[in-house]
Amino acid sequence: MSHQPEISRRSVLGLAAAAGVAGLALPGTAQAAVRAARQRVVVIGGGVAGVSTAWLLDGQHDVVLLESGPELGGHARSLDVTIDGRHIAVDAGAQYFGPKSHPTYWKLLTQVLHVPTVPAPMNLTVSKRGVERPVLVSPDSNRVWPLFDPLYWGALVSMAVFTDRGKQILAGNDRTTSAVDFINSLAVAQWVRDDLLFPLCGAMFGFSVPQVKEMSAFSVLAFVIRGLGDGFLAPYDYHNATDGLRAVVAALSTGLTTVTSHVNAAATGLSRQGAEYHVTDSAGRTHVADHVVFAAPPYATGPLAGQLAGTSGLVATHQRFRYVPARVAIHADPAYMPVNRQDWSGFNVLTDGPYCEPSMWYGAFRDVSVFKSWVSHRAALPANTIATYDYLHALETPDLAPAQSALAGYQGGERLWFAGAHTVDVASQDSALLSAIAIAKQIAPASANLARITA
Ligand SMILES: Cc1cc2nc3c(=O)[nH]c(=O)nc-3n(C[C@H](O)[C@H](O)[C@H](O)COP(=O)(O)OP(=O)(O)OC[C@H]3O[C@@H](n4cnc5c(N)ncnc54)[C@H](O)[C@@H]3O)c2cc1C
Repeated sequence: MSHQPEISRRSVLGLAAAAGVAGLALPGTAQAAVRAARQRVVVIGGGVAGVSTAWLLDGQHDVVLLESGPELGGHARSLDVTIDGRHIAVDAGAQYFGPKSHPTYWKLLTQVLHVPTVPAPMNLTVSKRGVERPVLVSPDSNRVWPLFDPLYWGALVSMAVFTDRGKQILAGNDRTTSAVDFINSLAVAQWVRDDLLFPLCGAMFGFSVPQVKEMSAFSVLAFVIRGLGDGFLAPYDYHNATDGLRAVVAALSTGLTTVTSHVNAAATGLSRQGAEYHVTDSAGRTHVADHVVFAAPPYATGPLAGQLAGTSGLVATHQRFRYVPARVAIHADPAYMPVNRQDWSGFNVLTDGPYCEPSMWYGAFRDVSVFKSWVSHRAALPANTIATYDYLHALETPDLAPAQSALAGYQGGERLWFAGAHTVDVASQDSALLSAIAIAKQIAPASANLARITA
């Protein structure tokens, strides 16, 4: 019986590196051992979750990253806009993050990648269509006058009640209470619920009032409360990437050594052949993998995973994540802003029957009058529309946390992994990154980039 000497991972990698430098072919045994140490991973989906996964696995495994769209980034996509000679990169999808609401992502940008960021302190105006005077103009350290207007006192006291009780939901990790039950339980007037709280919460996601009522209170409050600044009158502590979130994607995906990225390459086929997976893409390539990381949204992952035998439970789990269509417009005219200029905020909600879509004004923090508005239900597009984008936006009900737990039960089984903002906490850039970190801890614990972000 022949005896095969045990080859340590370190010696194999050293041998592989030496052979690569010398242009040598490794003997079969060593090749097999190299593969045992250094595995082939196909990552499906090039949003922040997928690109972060590739960044974390770089140098540890041979990674193929497949993105169906024409560029990496997914919801992190930026548009160049020039108005009155001023240039700005507008984030057409995800945009806001902050040290309290997105702590790990904040660390990635500010301490690891050194991506320039700019404060985007968010103040709020909530108005009703056809009514000149807003329901609420939020005061902050740069805008104190609403504090002295008695007509806003009822709304301001109600916001304090909402915030105080909301903090309890977040602190208690209560993911079962619905938004409608939470808001109806507050000791506030009915007009506050109808004209302020439901529209404001719906607008945070571009949802209608009936849709936001279905959400979990936790998911709503995570965005409305986690980003609050410290102290009375501190505005929301949100930030933007100065050059758009595409700068984050570029920083993560540039200079990788063992990652091959393909855009315009949707994963279309998945099969298992012995211990290997074969992933085919829309360009006709087949990629062989030891591990498959799904970093596409659940409505894409479910059908793909369903091509494998014995995955009916996995497919059913993916069907529990809900999404609704949303259209966003980038425009240069203040089509949806409050009537009076002094009432304009960074985040402006206009209630129109059951709809309460937001319009975000870059001029509040970047001195460029560009607007980003949800237009799924508006009567007409703004006159000066620069671009529109269509999304499916996560509608996070009280079933989200149980669905995430169910999905966690499949994590790593048969070397299939599930990343994405939907898999952890509430949908955000932070969750997308955290989902990638969790996988890297399992399959690339020695990753240098993992060490940088977890240090
Ligand atoms: C309009 C909008 C605004 C948002 N604003 C914010 C915000 O301000 N702050 C925040 O933190 N979060 C925001 N979010 C949440 C956002 O979803 C997350 O922050 C995060 O960007 C999601 O990253 P992801 O990688 O999980 O998913 P995605 O960004 O959806 O990426 C998934 C990728 O998979 C690709 N894909 C799908 N199917 C396949 C396939 N078969 N093969 C290959 N690729 C495939 C898709 O093209 C996509 O690029 C917003 C979401 C939306 C829709």
